[in-house]
Amino acid sequence: MSLTLTINSAAWRSHLDDFSAEVPGLVPVAKGNGYGFGLGRLAGESARLPADALAVGTAYEVPIVRSAGWEADIVVLNPIRPNDQTALALLAQPKIITTVSRLTDLAYVAEHAPRARVIVELETSMRRHGITADEIEQVATEGLRFEGWSIHLPSHGSLAEARELAAKAVTQQPGIVWVSHLSTDDYRTLHDELNGNTRMRVGTRLWLGAPDTLRVTGTVLDVHKVRHGQRLGYHQTRSPEDGLLIIVSGGTSHGVAMSAPTTQRGLRNRLKTVAAGLLDARGRTRSPFSIGGKKRKFIEPPHMHSSMLFIAGTKTPVEVGDEIPVTVRYTTTTFDQVRFS
Ligand SMILES: *Cc1c(COP(=O)(O)O)cnc(C)c1O
Repeated sequence: MSLTLTINSAAWRSHLDDFSAEVPGLVPVAKGNGYGFGLGRLAGESARLPADALAVGTAYEVPIVRSAGWEADIVVLNPIRPNDQTALALLAQPKIITTVSRLTDLAYVAEHAPRARVIVELETSMRRHGITADEIEQVATEGLRFEGWSIHLPSHGSLAEARELAAKAVTQQPGIVWVSHLSTDDYRTLHDELNGNTRMRVGTRLWLGAPDTLRVTGTVLDVHKVRHGQRLGYHQTRSPEDGLLIIVSGGTSHGVAMSAPTTQRGLRNRLKTVAAGLLDARGRTRSPFSIGGKKRKFIEPPHMHSSMLFIAGTKTPVEVGDEIPVTVRYTTTTFDQVRFS
């Protein structure tokens, strides 16, 4: 009785193997909800891959991947700040590599945790974290173990940008260049140009790069006949016509039907979303659950662990216990069950 992710394990693992063979110096990223799989599972899968480091998002995620059995180096991607006690406590650990993104933080770490292993992050066109290209010449890593430079590019990052920053950085201080979001071809070019002294962090394209190997389903928990005008749900709205109410596993507590912000440049794109029928005239939202190959409507917005769907008519297309397909955004979904098939 659950929201379930079923992984075709042979096909999924073969994609992971193929991808890592394409990317010399791959650093798997396991952060957040573990891209839907869970951090522990990704740590276990990473141990199968030829990777010598695993990247996590925050210091809080380190003990999770450790206890799942990851024993080699861990890179913490969120840059350290002097008030971050959890990250500071990790600096002394020999297998932790800390990201530093401001000159003041570099000086702070050098003073408080000599011999800490650090990567210095460079600002890119993302404008998220990092020292600017002009600050590179002020980078001093005496007393620290310098593990290289980090270049975090926007989606579909540009080789030219990575190349230019990397050249300037390694001239100041030679080291590994850790990048993200280059195409495989561009990354291999950079890898060759820098004599193999590169790593590429990948989460999405690795774990979620073969969507056909994954299946998400919710269990049908109940099917009720309802009459036109009958009141239903938390909000006691009226049934729009005679039909069936289908109660299914999967709701807001799993992250189902929580619309995360999307990139919608301009009115035209926003109108397209409306036109796609995400909202009907009554304001009822199309759900991500499919029955009979069709996305069905919510009778009301879901609350917590289950959802209520409506189908007009009296023919019952599903039974209690059936598993129906659900479209999810993996990075915001928590499954009850992850199953290998
Ligand atoms: C999250 C993250 C990645 C991986 O991003 P994906 O798009 O999931 O592959 C790489 N580098 C940094 C610094 C990140 O924060």
